Amino acid sequence: MTRLVAGNWKMNGSLAANRKLLGELAVQSGVEVAVCVPFPYLAQLQERPAGLFLGAQDVSEFEVGAYTGEVSAAMLAEFGCRFVIVGHSERRALFGEDDLLVGRKARAAMARGIVPIVCVGETLAERDAGQAMLVIGRQLAAVLEVLGREAMAAVVLAYEPVWAIGSGRSATVSQVSVVHAGIRGWLREQRVRAEGVRILYGGSVKPENAAELFAVRDVDGGLIGGASLVGEDFMAICRAAADAV
Ligand code: PEP
Repeated sequence: MTRLVAGNWKMNGSLAANRKLLGELAVQSGVEVAVCVPFPYLAQLQERPAGLFLGAQDVSEFEVGAYTGEVSAAMLAEFGCRFVIVGHSERRALFGEDDLLVGRKARAAMARGIVPIVCVGETLAERDAGQAMLVIGRQLAAVLEVLGREAMAAVVLAYEPVWAIGSGRSATVSQVSVVHAGIRGWLREQRVRAEGVRILYGGSVKPENAAELFAVRDVDGGLIGGASLVGEDFMAICRAAADAV
């Protein structure tokens, strides 16, 4: 399956900085590349390197109406978003998003033809307590409950251990390998068509560790935070994904 590398710009950027960064991005064969940008920059990103997919970082669970501050999936679709991140750990931890809300956001996106990148992952305390897969299973189960099996097979999943995000401390190859196989196995157990589900790894991916992470079985790409803001680094990570066998 073709790997996907998605950049998560988070709340970074400016019109000038984005212009410079976009000038440094070029799509390569053998990998799908997306940038998930803050809402106001979706307009600026209407002009972007050919083949670069556009994404957002959140979406409302609601369709339309009196929901001040929300952005609907229909709006994202109008701006050509192919992807939207849902359930990022920053949204879960800082904005109180729970497992079922993440599922409803994924459903709202899919209703408008946008592929949700559903983030799951454990905190360090949960890992230390030996509960990583338990937590991830709970997060996935809520999304499955909302979407059903068929739609669940069409999402992109991102395993993002909370302790690895923005910390400079990536999960090890063996930790990633265990969890990604665990996620695929969990999907199979739930009788979701697991083979076509792309499972991205996210958490301190850098040009230096990208190749070894993408070489792990069941790692189908990456969700890249900090390094996606540096054109040269993001391109090196995309190249590593294209070259991984
Ligand atoms: C992220 O925010 O999704 C992420 C993976 O961040 P970083 O690459 O900076 O750890």
